Order: sequence, then C-alpha cells, then structure tokens
Amino acid sequence: ENLTNQIAAGEVIERPASVVKELVENAIDAEATRIRVEVLKSGLTQISVQDNGIGIAPDQIDLAFMRHATSKIKNERDLFNIATLGFRGEALASIAAVSHAEILTSTDGQIGTKAGFSGGIKNFQEDAGSPKGTKITVRDLFYNTPARLKYLKSPKTELLKIVDIVDRIALGHPEISLTLASDGKVLLRTPGNGNLKQDVANIYGRKVAEEMLTVESEDPDFTLYGLVSQPDLTRSNRNFISILLNGRYIKNYQLAAALMDGYGTQLAGKKYPIAVLAIEADPLLVDVNVHPTKEEVRLSKEKELSRLITGAVSQALLGQEE
Ligand code: ADP
Ligand code: MG
Repeated sequence: ENLTNQIAAGEVIERPASVVKELVENAIDAEATRIRVEVLKSGLTQISVQDNGIGIAPDQIDLAFMRHATSKIKNERDLFNIATLGFRGEALASIAAVSHAEILTSTDGQIGTKAGFSGGIKNFQEDAGSPKGTKITVRDLFYNTPARLKYLKSPKTELLKIVDIVDRIALGHPEISLTLASDGKVLLRTPGNGNLKQDVANIYGRKVAEEMLTVESEDPDFTLYGLVSQPDLTRSNRNFISILLNGRYIKNYQLAAALMDGYGTQLAGKKYPIAVLAIEADPLLVDVNVHPTKEEVRLSKEKELSRLITGAVSQALLGQEE
C-alpha cells in the first residue's frame, strides 16, 4: 500500500508546485474564501496552505489521507467532473507518501484536530485548537524518493513554477483572496473582491490591466468571460495566456489557438497576447482527462467552443476601434 502510494505520488506530485496546486484546489473545493500559501526554500523545505473552508472532522482524517477515498463524488454528474475538477482522492495520500505532512483542521473553529504523517504512515492524531478551516504543512518533500529530488530544476525555477500556478489559480478565482509568501516575503496578495481586472493588475501590473479588453460571450453550452490584451501589448511566449475551465486552470492548445485567431493578422510574427479566459461549461461536456495532473482536458464540442472564443475576441478588438 505504501509503495503503491509512492508510485501514485510520482504521477500526481512531480514537484513542489504540484503540491501547492493540489492543496490550493482542495481549499477551493472546501469553499474557502481566504487561502494563504507559504513556502520555504522553493517549497523543498516547507509548503503550507491554510484555508478558512469547511474543515475535516476528526473521524474523517484517515479517509482524507487514503487513496481513492474522495468524498466529493456525490452523484452521477460528479463522476464526469473527475477529469477537470480533480476529484480523484489521490492528492493527499500521494503528498503524505513522499513527505512529512501535518494537518491542523477544524470544522467549527473551536475544537480541532492535529495529525502527522511521514512517508505515508500516520504518526499521531490529537485534539488541538484551530481556527475554522484547514492548514496542511508539508516538510522535506521527496525525502524518501531521491530520484524525484534529482529530477527537480533549480530552486529559482521551482519557485517560478509555484508562482505561476498560484497566479493562474488566482486569475481563475477573483472571488477568493489568495496570498503567496516565499521565505517570509509576500509575492502575491489578491483582495478576493471578484474583480478580475484587479487580479490582473496584481499579477501583470496596473498598466497591462488598464489596457486589457473585456471578452464576453455565450452560447447554449458555454459561457465566456475574460480579458485580452490589445495587439500592441503582446509577449514573446504563450505563458501569459491562461484558460480556465469551470474554475480550473487547463492547458489546451486548440483553445489557445482559437483565442489567437481572434486577432486575425494583428499578431504579426511570433507574438502572443496576454489573456485570461474563464469558460463555464456543463461538466458533461468535459471528457476524461488525458494527463494525470489534469491540466490537459478534452472537450466535446471543442470546435464550437473554439469558434465562440475566436468570435468573442475579434468582437472585443473591433469594439475597441470604434
Ligand atoms: P480529492 O480532492 O480528489 O477528493 P484529495 O486527496 O485531494 O482528494 O483530498 C481527499 C479528501 O480530503 C477530500 O475529498 C476532502 O474531503 C478532504 N480535504 C482535503 N483537503 C481539504 C481541505 N483543505 N478542507 C477540507 N477538506 C479537505
Ligand atoms: Mg484534491
């Protein structure tokens, strides 16, 4: 069982940024409105994620840290959500298998629970005072899987990957206040007031935010909302395009291409826009994932969605010219 967990961990948890992503997504699933991520030494020494969500009851701790024990599949529709929404019940077990993990959680903000796991084995569980919500602290990631450690990039690159994923989650959830601190220094703090433009300002700068154009469109299957840069405000790589599907950051080459098609010939040469595009879709249109980290998803009606995106972006740019 423990070895299975370590192997599974290799699929879900590639690097410190994967831990951050899984823990923050869990916090969002737990209906948190405030999430604080703190990392030490690019997450290799320590990662902690604290939320003000629903918390975990004492008798549910073991279940939460067991593989395939997700509590989130309640009906048939949720089954279709597995791919995009990360309801797979593997993340906590995988993280605990390759680190020293500690949880402090409370469902009511009075009495709470503290428990510790090392290499997938529970060391202790006790009652403890805790604010309502959950704090998970992960120390010494990959301490027992040296091959994983060796595969990591430089601390600077690993930190950039953490910043990147937190930025994108923040862009997908302007209604959540997200804070990221690294070695005691706050790198990002979003207000959580639902204003996407303000989050863009926090992440890409006020000037960029001010020059972004609003994209809005819908058809019977999809609703689009987002901000795209004007053609003279481009970047030399596609990292500044964030596509979010039902609140989760996804990678989808076709949809990014559709977005760029909206610019027609205005994106001369090797230029890419800065864009945030939130897509709401019926989960039934989302196919099973093709990648264990769930970032790559396939959609039914992808062609229709692509057309909707291209049309909405070109509309936004046209409106600008008037
Ligand atoms: P999944 O998210 O796919 O259900 P995880 O391993 O990520 O699987 O989490 C396992 C379970 O632990 C979740 O289903 C949830 O019940 C509980 N859990 C994890 N993180 C939190 C959190 N921050 N707040 C409340 N419950 C949580
Ligand atoms: Mg999860």
